[in-house]
Amino acid sequence: EAKARGGGQHCLFDDALARQYERKIETERALTEGLERNEFSLALQPQLSLRTGEITGAEALLRWNHPQGDVRKPSSFIAIAEGCGVITDIGDWVLRECAAILARWKEKGGVRRLAVNVSPRQLDRSDFFARVRETFEEAKVSLEFVELEFTETTAMRCTDEQIAEMRALQADGATIAIDDFGTGYSNIARLRTMPLDRVKLDPSLVADIDRSEKARNIVQSVVTLIDAVGAEIVAEAIENSAQADILRTMGCQIVQGYVFAPPMDETEFLDWVANAEREWVEPANDVASGS
Ligand code: C2E
Ligand code: MG
Ligand code: MG
Ligand code: MG
Repeated sequence: EAKARGGGQHCLFDDALARQYERKIETERALTEGLERNEFSLALQPQLSLRTGEITGAEALLRWNHPQGDVRKPSSFIAIAEGCGVITDIGDWVLRECAAILARWKEKGGVRRLAVNVSPRQLDRSDFFARVRETFEEAKVSLEFVELEFTETTAMRCTDEQIAEMRALQADGATIAIDDFGTGYSNIARLRTMPLDRVKLDPSLVADIDRSEKARNIVQSVVTLIDAVGAEIVAEAIENSAQADILRTMGCQIVQGYVFAPPMDETEFLDWVANAEREWVEPANDVASGS
């Protein structure tokens, strides 16, 4: 009897695990197929100068237009893609797509810079930096329009060779950014040795600055620290103008967030940019100017 019950529980547990495993295998297969069937796309979210309102560029955010009809966000598949290794193929696709977008924008003028998220698994490959160079060279896009985002944890794990490659890429015009700063374990001394152009504050640092003095003090300290290493500060996931105002007085340079614009497809993005610029060029519409 005890054996039967224990066995039963054991089976239930096994079933749940087996189902979870099956789902994972199924997702891995669907990701590989999705890449072949061109189911991925990039959503572009504007980045703005907090001081001038100028659009300085955009972050490219991966979307999966799933055959079941819904558009999936990275949180539902990136971890699985990293686990089975297909993330490196996806990452190659993301780089090529960014290069294609930037090549299209070359003729248009206007916004020309894209930030790309890099998975630690991509960086694990010894030819990562060569692939980045090749991809943009082939598209005839200068590296000065390319920003690479590494997470804080990835950045802290970099070898001296990888840091040297980053520095060389930076010397050739690329922008190097640390993403999600404040969630990993930063070696502060290491910040000094990295070729850092930008540091993106993790949303959890910024979320409460309009409500909590402690949160403001922490962000101010981080801003001072990043200033000290000579990098620009990017605040993301800004959802209200109070947060933006506080960040401006703290000396944060660049912002990104729903209060300005959500991630959009390329056409929507270009429309948004065209309209946003028109507003800034015509300050006569600004009733608050009092003139
Ligand atoms: P991330 O790089 O930190 O990107 C910022 C995330 O914040 C994006 O989520 C964006 O849609 C979201 N966001 C933007 N404005 C707001 C806001 O005002 N409020 C809130 N709450 N969120 C906002 P998304 O697109 O779901 O991407 C999630 C993460 O997936 C990214 O975080 C990045 O780590 C990863 N990811 C995205 N695209 C790629 C990619 O091409 N390759 C790799 N390896 N990872 C990617
Ligand atoms: Mg990012
Ligand atoms: Mg981030
Ligand atoms: Mg993130």
